[in-house]
This record gives sequence, structure tokens and C-alpha cells, in this order.
Amino acid sequence: MTEHPGSAERPLRVAIVGAGPSGFYAAAALLKERGRTTIDLFDRLIAPHGLVRYGVAPDHQNIKAVAKLYDRTIADPAVRYFGNVDVGRDLTHADLKSHYDAIFYTTGAQSDRRLGIPGEDLPNSLSATEFVAWYNGHPDFRDLAVDLSCEAAVVVGVGNVAMDVARILAKSVEELQETDIADHALAALAQSRVKDIYVIARRGPAQVKFTNAEVREMGHLAIADPIVLDSELRLDHASSAAIEGDTAMQKNLDYLRAYVEIGATGKPRRVHFRFLLSPAEILAENGRIVGVTLEKNELRAAVTGEIKASGTGQYEILPAGLVLRSVGYKGIPLEGVPFDRRNGVIPNEVGRVIDLDTGKVVAGEYVAGWIKRGPNGVIGTNKPDAIESVNNFFEDLHKGRLALAPDPSLEAIPALLAARGVRYVTKEEWLVIDAHEVAAGKPQHKPRVKLVERAQMLALLKG
Ligand code: NAP
Repeated sequence: MTEHPGSAERPLRVAIVGAGPSGFYAAAALLKERGRTTIDLFDRLIAPHGLVRYGVAPDHQNIKAVAKLYDRTIADPAVRYFGNVDVGRDLTHADLKSHYDAIFYTTGAQSDRRLGIPGEDLPNSLSATEFVAWYNGHPDFRDLAVDLSCEAAVVVGVGNVAMDVARILAKSVEELQETDIADHALAALAQSRVKDIYVIARRGPAQVKFTNAEVREMGHLAIADPIVLDSELRLDHASSAAIEGDTAMQKNLDYLRAYVEIGATGKPRRVHFRFLLSPAEILAENGRIVGVTLEKNELRAAVTGEIKASGTGQYEILPAGLVLRSVGYKGIPLEGVPFDRRNGVIPNEVGRVIDLDTGKVVAGEYVAGWIKRGPNGVIGTNKPDAIESVNNFFEDLHKGRLALAPDPSLEAIPALLAARGVRYVTKEEWLVIDAHEVAAGKPQHKPRVKLVERAQMLALLKG
């Protein structure tokens, strides 16, 4: 073995934990040192692609198409895939340190932020994270109890995830059936009685987080009208000043103003945009949600210049039977890896993991994506983010700063997993599942019919 990993005899061994967008972008960037690096890509789930498969809305197939690029990366002979392997349970941090020269954590943000209000944990008060995973066929959320027998739903937050969940509730079965929405979700949505969907912003229309395409789509729904109150679109002085020259925000406002003009056209469902309201309590009778108490807010400019919502002490009750809390995702800790609980990220300096006790860089450990910078940006944002971390890894490699693996053999990890009885899924097996799903979708004009249960997927591989 040479002293310098990165040669044909002693290739660099890199583990990537999390086969979502940032994991794939990190892998692609690492492959630039082709012939000198071998990569093992791990995922807790059987299927790779992370948020592209389980987060991006099923009616946004154009965004999901990026998975084709990920397939090219995974097909590279220098990349192995270990699906159905839970790092932290099936493999420890110490295992990874023994067998890899470098580890990239690309685990995303798997949990959600809380509102911290009474009633938040009532049945049918769901985080958008759960609801999105449910309609996208995430195996852990197959049995989520979603009751769509009420007439009104409240969506808290005005980011793109709020737009996704509101739109899925507002769309007809016809609009959804040629997507890859999970069969169980389509069946439940087909029986939905939800007619009014209230999207609630705690700040004003000049502080929304959604983007132009998402608000524009609301004006093109087959069976739902977007409803906006003229009185809530008036901007205060500070907001007007803050968005001067912000063409994207001006465009958002143009769409919202157009919806005021058009008003209700008589479609059977409505998506109401409401501003300057914060949920104060989720109300229930006999254990069932009956409404949400909302506090009216006003805007105040903080000394930092940020425009913040401040409660006025005036309340209104919005009757509703379903609450979807879409106030942001949050990362979760990984065994043996530093974690910044406040921000829900792995502490890092431009992608190099930092030990919180010493403030020093942890040799050979890196992050990319949402677990590095927090849950913001679109799928493509993760590409430059991952490249930045990989470039720092290469710099560390060339300056001899890595802690090299004592046992870098290719056989070690498969042997360890086999000894522990872990049924890992290889990339060849993933291709079998992928081909099966796509073939099942063809007769129904769907991009694929997702296999949802782990057991179903493993049974297919056995057969
Ligand atoms: P987000 O964009 O950060 O939006 C979160 C929303 O929740 C904001 O409106 C925020 O309001 C609100 N909020 C936070 N805490 C709240 C509280 N306590 N009470 C009331 N409201 C609260 O997050 P996201 O929608 O989860 O999206 C995550 C990222 O994924 C974003 O970058 C998004 O663009 C991206 N994404 C993109 C697409 C797409 O490209 N089609 C689809 C889905 C997601 P404040 O602004 O007042 O904090």
C-alpha cells in the first residue's frame, strides 16, 4: 500500500451517507478524480434519490427529471450503492472511520420545525414533511392517518412546500392520476371533501417565500380558484421599500393582485391566501380538529432591517378539520457526528465538519446539502454546495490532512453488513425496482407506479 491514497493500487475510499440530491452531487464532483476514488453511497431507504423521489411534488415531473443525472452517477463503476442501510444503526461511525478515508454526510433535513402552540399534536394536525412523504409513497409514512372528510384545511406557512401541499389538496383526481403520486394517497384524495384550503402567512404579501412559478400555478387549477383579499394586499411603507427592485417579489404581488381582480369563478374548491395571521391554538371537539385560532399581526421593522410579525392581541377563529404545518424542515443528529441542535445542522466550516467542543475541524468528515446549510434553496442549489465541500476535501487530501482508513479494502463493508444480517440493496437491484415501477406506470400513462412497502420491494428482488 502506498502512503498516498488516490492511486490505482490504493484508491481513495469515500463514504457518502444519504443518497439524495446533495449526495449525488457530491459523488459526481468526487468522480472528477476518476480512477483514483471509489465511492460507497449509503441510504436508509431502499430507493435512492431522496427528496427528488420523496419530497418533490408528484405533479412536478420536470423537477424529478434530474434523477436521470443521478442514475448516470450511480452507474459509474467507481460507485457502489448500499440501500436499506441505516448508518447509526447498521453501521457505526467507528465502522466508517475504519474503512473510509473520508465521509460525506448528506442526510438532508428529515424532521420539521414546530409551531409550539396548543393542539399541535392533535390527530389530523400534520407536518407538511409527513403529508408530503405520505403522498410521495415514502415507506415510513404509508400508514399516516390523513382524514380528508372535513370541508376546510389550514396550511401554515407560505413557502414552496406550503404551495405544494395546498395544490395537491386543490387538484382533481384527473390532474393527479398521470403523476407518480402514491396509489394510497390518490385513493384518499379521490374521496376528499376538502373544498376550502387556507394558506396562512404570519407576515405580509411582500414577505412570502414561495416563488413565481408556484403562485402562477394556482391560477391554472382545473377545479380550484385562488382567492386573495384586496385589503390584505396593501403594503406598509417598510415592505414597499424593502422590495423595491426585487422583480421576483413584484411578480409574486402581480399574481396575487390578478387573483383579487379575477375573484371566485365558481370552481368547487378554493385556495385562500391570508396574510398577517399567526396560529395561536388548534381547537378540537371530541378529539377532532374543528378550527384554528389565529392572531392578527402587524409588521415591525427590526433594527437589523428585518421585517417581523408582531401580535396585536386580536383573534379570529377559522373553522377547519385538517391542519398542515409547513413552517420548515429540520435536520436530525447522526450517531457519533457533531450536531448543532439550535439550527438542526451538522456544524461545519464551508463543508468541513467542526467539533463543537474544540471548535476544530474533524479530519476527513464533510457535509453537503440541507444538513450543511439548513433547509433552503431548490434541488439545484445543492450542486454548487456539494462542489464547494468536495473542493475542500481535495484541498485537505493534497495537503495531507485526512485521517486515512486503517482498513480500506472493498470487501470490508459488504462483509460487515452480511455478518450483521443487514439485507442491503445494490445498484443493480435498484435498477430492477426502477424498471418494474416504470413498466407498471406505462399502461396508466404514469411516469411510474411506486412500490411503497419495503417488503414489496424486497419480494420483487427475490422473485
Ligand atoms: P420556507 O421557504 O423556509 O418557508 C417556511 C414558511 O414558514 C415561511 O413562510 C415562514 O414565514 C413560515 N413560518 C416559519 N415559522 C413559522 C411560525 N412559527 N408561524 C408561522 N409561519 C412560520 O420552507 P419550505 O416551504 O419548507 O421550503 C424549504 C425549501 O425547499 C425552500 O428553499 C423552498 O423554496 C424549497 N422548495 C422548492 C420547491 C420548488 O422549487 N418547487 C418546492 C418545495 C420546496 P417567515 O418568512 O415569516 O419566517
